[in-house]
Amino acid sequence: MNDLSDWRNHHSASILPALGRPQRLLVRGEGVHVWDETGKRYTDLLAGIAVNALGHAHPAIVEALTRQAGTLGHISNFFASPPQIALAERVLALAEAPEGSSVYFSNSGAEANEAALKITRRTGRSKIVAVEGSFHGRTMGALALTSKAAYREPFEPGVPGVVHVPFGDEAALRAAVDTDTAAVILEPIQGESGVRHHPTGYLSAAREATIAVGALLVLDEVQTGIGRTGAWFAFQHPELGEGIVPDVVTLAKGLGGGMPIGATLMFGRSVTQLLQPGQHGSTYSGNPLATAVSLAVLDTLAADGLVDHAAALGERARERFSALAEVTEVSGTGLLLGLELRDGSAKDVTTAALEAGFIVNPVTETRLRIAPPLIITDDQLLDFADALPGLLTAAAQASAAPEGRA
Ligand SMILES: *Cc1c(COP(=O)(O)O)cnc(C)c1O
Repeated sequence: MNDLSDWRNHHSASILPALGRPQRLLVRGEGVHVWDETGKRYTDLLAGIAVNALGHAHPAIVEALTRQAGTLGHISNFFASPPQIALAERVLALAEAPEGSSVYFSNSGAEANEAALKITRRTGRSKIVAVEGSFHGRTMGALALTSKAAYREPFEPGVPGVVHVPFGDEAALRAAVDTDTAAVILEPIQGESGVRHHPTGYLSAAREATIAVGALLVLDEVQTGIGRTGAWFAFQHPELGEGIVPDVVTLAKGLGGGMPIGATLMFGRSVTQLLQPGQHGSTYSGNPLATAVSLAVLDTLAADGLVDHAAALGERARERFSALAEVTEVSGTGLLLGLELRDGSAKDVTTAALEAGFIVNPVTETRLRIAPPLIITDDQLLDFADALPGLLTAAAQASAAPEGRA
């Protein structure tokens, strides 16, 4: 492809449109900004779907990646490496995991959940209780945990044993958790189904119900983990977490800041012991490159106070967005926010936002998701609040025009 302006044709001719055709070709990024091939600049309020915690081309990531690539890039699981061990210790410390806890590293959120699912099978029970609206990934095991029928049905028969209980119904959850239940799996905030909160008391109910029958509580913090909600982990968040301690936590997205990495945290010796040596693995598990970058991400988040920043800016942004007549509800916490639009389609507003130089995500038909890099400043984020009324007008005009925009 010599001429980048022809990228759409080349993309169509060579790349599976797994999630539809992309809207832009991005060629460069720096901080909270990315640029397309025409030189147009966008403020990235989605961060690769809650991934680029340090934004784009952060010097700490560039330094860690180049240093590690020039030192030791890949080994195998027959060997250990310093960044792998350091990252495991760091993540367990941040999670305040008890003695005997351990980490299994993988390469994505789906893989982190696959490992969690295998752990649950080792309890000797096979029933898993998941929640309607949940998203846990697209590989066969993670897919079975994911609620959306449209994602699962084309691939049946799926992995058996999973039941989905209605969202927000504590009684239904309690009723579903019985002595056949190996685990309950939950996202502390459902990301993909619209930045949705469980009702107050739901997480503690899940914890209580699982303890009562000796089942595991698995928290999928792939989207909510690593500072996103204004706490290192959502389960530690003063309001979201309800003081519970899970048995298994899965991570990815923000953990690598853009480097593909996933992690499955096993809390305590009894959970760690469920997976015996040889029962799970991946060639890249704990790869030095990925773990060195992840360590740099965690170091920078801590050194720059970015988790507290996410909490404080999230509050200011919530106030500002809530004050807009165009927004009927602001869901989410920290820098994972859902903006429910009074009218207008979230998809059309996303297109208008792109035209105006903002990247956001239509997480439902009527709700925008905002999940910017945690390094974003007040002005950079609140500029979008100023722009939003105009974007709704632009979106309405574009959808009224017979062929959309010219
Ligand atoms: C994105 C996501 C996943 C899947 O992660 P991948 O890296 O895309 O496989 C799983 N669970 C949650 C909550 C997610 O947001």
